[in-house]
Amino acid sequence: MCHRSLRLIPNLILAAFVAIACHAEDNGSIEKFAQVNEGRYEVFAQGGHQMAFQVNLFMNEMLRQYETYFNNATPKHAARVVVFASNQDFRQYATTAMGQPHPWLQGYCRPMTDSAGNRSFELVVYQSGTVWPTLAHEGFHQFLAYELGQKIPIWLNEGMAQYFETSHFLGSTFVVGGVNFTKLQQVQLLIKSGKAPPLKDIIEWNPSTFYSRAEIAYPMSWALTYYLLKSGHDPSVSMEFRRYLQAVKAGGSDFQSAQERLSQGCQRWQADFNDSFLHLGDSIGLQ
Ligand SMILES: [Zn+2]
Repeated sequence: MCHRSLRLIPNLILAAFVAIACHAEDNGSIEKFAQVNEGRYEVFAQGGHQMAFQVNLFMNEMLRQYETYFNNATPKHAARVVVFASNQDFRQYATTAMGQPHPWLQGYCRPMTDSAGNRSFELVVYQSGTVWPTLAHEGFHQFLAYELGQKIPIWLNEGMAQYFETSHFLGSTFVVGGVNFTKLQQVQLLIKSGKAPPLKDIIEWNPSTFYSRAEIAYPMSWALTYYLLKSGHDPSVSMEFRRYLQAVKAGGSDFQSAQERLSQGCQRWQADFNDSFLHLGDSIGLQ
C-alpha cells in the first residue's frame, strides 16, 4: 500500500525515494496506487511515485494558468486526479464509473458524491502518448466545474480546454497557448472549403449540437478561443473576451448581454479571423 504525501523535494532525493517506492498492484484499485498530495491536487498514479509527483507538479502549474483567466477562485476540496498505467485497467475503471467508454477515450472528468454528500470532480487518464495534453484539457473541465458548475457555454468550455492542451515545461518556464498545428490545419481546410460555420453560430450551440458536429466544433472552438486570447494586433478583442468571462461567472442578465455583445463582435471579427487563421502557419511553412 502506498499512501504517502510527498513534498516538492530536489530531484536527487526524489530519485532515491522513487527507488524505494512501492509499486502499484497490477489492477484497477486506486487505493493501491502511489499517491502525492501537494497543493490542490490529490494524485493517484498506477505507474508509481515519480509519475504521481510529475502529474501533481504539472497540475498545480496548470491550475495557476487556469486561475489567471478566472480571478483565482479556490475549489473547496483538493481535486482528485487518477493516472492509470494500463489502458485496460483505465477502461475497466471508466466502465464501472459511467458505462462502456468510447474506444478513443483518453481521459475524462466526472462528478462524484461521497457518503457525506460532498460533491467533487474526479479526473481520470491513462499514460498514453497524449497524457499531458489530456491532463491539461480535462484539468480545465475539472477546474471550471468547481468554478462555474454547469453554466459555462459548451464552445467556451471545450475551446479553452483545447487552448491549454499545448501547455508544457520548457526548462523551468511553463509555456501556455501555443498553436495546435493539427487543429490549425483542420480549421484552414474548413475555411477554404466554405464548411467553417460563422463564429456567431458557434457561440450559440448547445452541447448536443456541439457534440453532433464534433469534427467541426472542436477545431473551430479552439480557433475562436485562440483568436480571442491572442489577438495582439487588436487589444479590444481580448478585452472583450475578458469581459465575457466575467459575465459567464456572474451569470443571469450579465451573461445574456455579454453573449449578445460577443455575437456582434464575432460578426465584426469574422473576416479578420478567417484571414488570421489562413496565414497563421505561414512562418513555419504550413499551407
Ligand atoms: Zn473536453
